[in-house]
Amino acid sequence: MINENPSISTYLFNIILDLPLEQYFTYSSEVNLAIGQRVLVDFKNKKMVGFVWQRTVKEDISYSLSKIKPILYVFSEIIPQDVLGLIKFAAHYYHYPTGATFFTAIPSLLRKPEVIVINSIKYVSLINPEHSLFTKKLGKNQLALYKQLQNGTLTISAVKELLGASYLKLLDNWECLGIIKIFSDCHKLSNPIITNKLPLNQEQSNIVSQLSETFAIAKPALLYGITGSGKTEVYLELIEQVILDGKQVLVLVPEINLTPQLLDRFKKRFSNVQMHILTSNINDKARVSGYLEAGYGTRQIIIGTRMAVFTPFKNLGLIIVDEEHDSSFKQNESLRYNARNLAVFRANYHNIPILLGSATPSLETLYNYKLKKYSLYKLTSRAVSNATLPSIKLIDLNTTPASNGLTNIVIDSIRNRLENKELSLIYINRRGYAPVVSCYECGWVSHCTSCTGNMVYHNKDARLKCHHCGFTCKLPNACPKCESKHLQAIGYGTQKIEESLEQCFPEARILRIDRDTTSSKLAWDILYKKVHNNEVDILVGTQMLTKGHDFHNLTLVVGLNLDSGLYSHDFRSTEFLFTQLMQVSGRAGRGVKPGEVLLQTHYPHHELYQYLIKHDFSGFANFLLKERKILGLPPYTYYALFRASGKTLDNVMEFLNAAPKK
Ligand code: ADP
Ligand code: ZN
Ligand code: ZN
Repeated sequence: MINENPSISTYLFNIILDLPLEQYFTYSSEVNLAIGQRVLVDFKNKKMVGFVWQRTVKEDISYSLSKIKPILYVFSEIIPQDVLGLIKFAAHYYHYPTGATFFTAIPSLLRKPEVIVINSIKYVSLINPEHSLFTKKLGKNQLALYKQLQNGTLTISAVKELLGASYLKLLDNWECLGIIKIFSDCHKLSNPIITNKLPLNQEQSNIVSQLSETFAIAKPALLYGITGSGKTEVYLELIEQVILDGKQVLVLVPEINLTPQLLDRFKKRFSNVQMHILTSNINDKARVSGYLEAGYGTRQIIIGTRMAVFTPFKNLGLIIVDEEHDSSFKQNESLRYNARNLAVFRANYHNIPILLGSATPSLETLYNYKLKKYSLYKLTSRAVSNATLPSIKLIDLNTTPASNGLTNIVIDSIRNRLENKELSLIYINRRGYAPVVSCYECGWVSHCTSCTGNMVYHNKDARLKCHHCGFTCKLPNACPKCESKHLQAIGYGTQKIEESLEQCFPEARILRIDRDTTSSKLAWDILYKKVHNNEVDILVGTQMLTKGHDFHNLTLVVGLNLDSGLYSHDFRSTEFLFTQLMQVSGRAGRGVKPGEVLLQTHYPHHELYQYLIKHDFSGFANFLLKERKILGLPPYTYYALFRASGKTLDNVMEFLNAAPKK
């Protein structure tokens, strides 16, 4: 197989392999290949997938040409130029090896040494759209289908959505009768049919028309709209314009926002449009199909979490980043990228508009607006008529004591909601039962034995778990230090608050939502449906509950254990806490019933709470920006973070002490 002596007519390529190295490997080929082409090569007697990164010539090879091995197989997939450019930029900007960046950015199936077959999309269209006699004999759904087909071609999946399980039989039948034809064409797009449009309010339509006018001379635009002000409607309207223009749209959303509710809105609006929904739990096949088809131009809308920023496009026309402030756009391991920032780079590269939406924009984005790099559009009132922002009240824990984590004011307010059959949400950003276990006799504390975190007590399985490093063990029967049996759980987590609520309101239907109860997507969907079917009276949960949800019956939000965010060593913690509280408050009173927010705190006079009760996000953001400027913190400066992990603390400390001086 190995060509000992490549002839003159052989092409040479530098191939990038899935190795953590800043290095390419040269291979030869009898045929010319595209940059980005997927190939199979032999590396140290192992078959590996690689991608053509550069062409090279034999003059540049410093070792014997006879050592160059031939490419074993050429796959059909090609990673296009724009994605390669993005990967190069990301590798450089985030200081990560190019090869490793590349392989992080592509779907995992492309890394396997296998041929990929994607099932191409099938379409249905009427053979004779004028033929109307036929409509008399049809059922309701069938008639609806026939009418839609008279407007244009549909995809099979749109037909399935409309008819349910019987769709195949019907299509078979109609095809036999010569009414329809079914075909697949990977380069054909159906004409979008837009349904379920809401008439925009004045603010929304002003923004849409301003944005569509300035799109040609795009600078990144910030859509700053309070919670429930109808930002999503603005996105949908702009997306419509872009896909009617025959172009593609990329929508980036935080993981937790990718709710059935949001997807439903997209599906209802763009029923026959090819979408690709990219979440962390879709299967590999679906992921690679959507990825490749976006590159061929046959998926018009890509909605996804941070990974989706690396999707190839044939004709990208618009990028939307919803909840641009959200921390889940940042990947905190291996390639530590921020998808929002890469999206801005990408929009600039394609010279297309990008819209960053948020009710609580990040300080970085606001700063870019102040520097006139971004433009700003505002939505200032709630879109549902009569819906207003909730009133926010502080409960001073210094004068109002809490028992089992809850003050009487909170308990009374929840009782009141129960009587009115309204939903309450209790927000506590700590999962588990209690943040730490301690010995009453000797003061022993449940520190993690593998890192410097504390072990959180989870009472459902009687275990201690470290939320930092993942280490877990059984709750000891007695104190490991003095053997006293007198161990106590200190502080509150979601489980303990759930227990307190169960004691106060034995008849209430309480649902806890945190990472422990929603580990699978299915679990999340089931919990979600329960809330929407009014099968829940009290929701208890972590920040998972703060984002994007639209629970119409929710009128009370309670915030517990908030103060730790006020005095943290992380300079972003106050920004984060404020954003969380604005967002969680924004869940209340989204329908016609007014909402109320109660926050228990030991520091009611802290600036953060004072701005919060006035819903004054801009005020607090300016306050923080001033503080950051004085202290020389981002976004006024760039920070580098040195991180180390090792088998012993000494090693790690030695490295960390030396590293910044190098
Ligand atoms: P946001 O994305 O800013 O949180 P949404 O777009 O989800 O806001 O809108 C909040 C609620 O208001 C939704 O229930 C939505 O259906 C409704 N809504 C948005 N725009 C309008 C409109 N123009 N007319 C009536 N209702 C609207
Ligand atoms: Zn002890
Ligand atoms: Zn740990």
